Amino acid sequence: MQTDAHPDDEDNALLAMVGEGQGVRTTLVTATRGDGGQNEIGPELSQALGVLRTEELLAVHRFDGAEQYFTRAVDFGYSFSVEESIQKWGHDEIVGDYVRHIRAIRPDVIVGFLCGGEGGGQHHQASARLTLEAFTAAADPNKYPEQIQAGLHPWQAMRVFCTDVSAFMPNPPPSTADLLRVDVSGFDPLLGRTYAELGLEARSMHKCQGTSQLL
Ligand SMILES: [Zn+2]
Repeated sequence: MQTDAHPDDEDNALLAMVGEGQGVRTTLVTATRGDGGQNEIGPELSQALGVLRTEELLAVHRFDGAEQYFTRAVDFGYSFSVEESIQKWGHDEIVGDYVRHIRAIRPDVIVGFLCGGEGGGQHHQASARLTLEAFTAAADPNKYPEQIQAGLHPWQAMRVFCTDVSAFMPNPPPSTADLLRVDVSGFDPLLGRTYAELGLEARSMHKCQGTSQLL
C-alpha cells in the first residue's frame, strides 16, 4: 500500500515494478482528489478538477496496475504547514480513513510520501505523518472501535516506509537516514520496457498537471 496527498504524488515506477513485475497486489490511498491544484488543459477548477484528477488517476493505473482508494481529506490549496493541513483535514477523521483502508486491504508493507523536510507543499508531509499514525493505530483494537464492531479486524502491517526528500533533489546531499534504495531500471521482457519507462508512461496520464510531455 502506498499513501500520498494528491493525484500525481504516487511513485508509478515502484507500483509498476512491484505490481506488474512481481505480481504483488498494489494499492494507492490518496488523501485528497487534488481539487486545490492547477489545470493546464481546461477550465475545470475546484470540485470539477477533483473529478478530472480522479479520472486521470484511474487512467494512470491502467499502466502501473495499482488499485485506487481515497480518504475524505479536502485539498484546500497550497499549505506551508503540516499542522494547518492536518487541522483543516481533520486529524481523527483522516487517520481513521487510513486505518479503515489498512484493516480492509491488510497490506504487508506501507509506503508513505515525504517524511520531514521543509520543501514543497506540506500536504505531502502531513499525509506521511498520518500514515505513520495509522500504521500503529490499525493494529490497536481500541482505536476506531466502531470499525471493529462493523466487522473489520485489527491489522499489523510488517513494515512502514516513507519517501526521503532527497529523492526530489537534483544533487542530493549524502543522507545519514536509514534508506532503502529501490532500483526501478530493470527491463521487463514481457512488458517490453523498464519499470521506470512504464512509470513515466503511467504518469503522463496526469494531463491536467502538464505531464503529457513525459512520453
Ligand atoms: Zn502533491
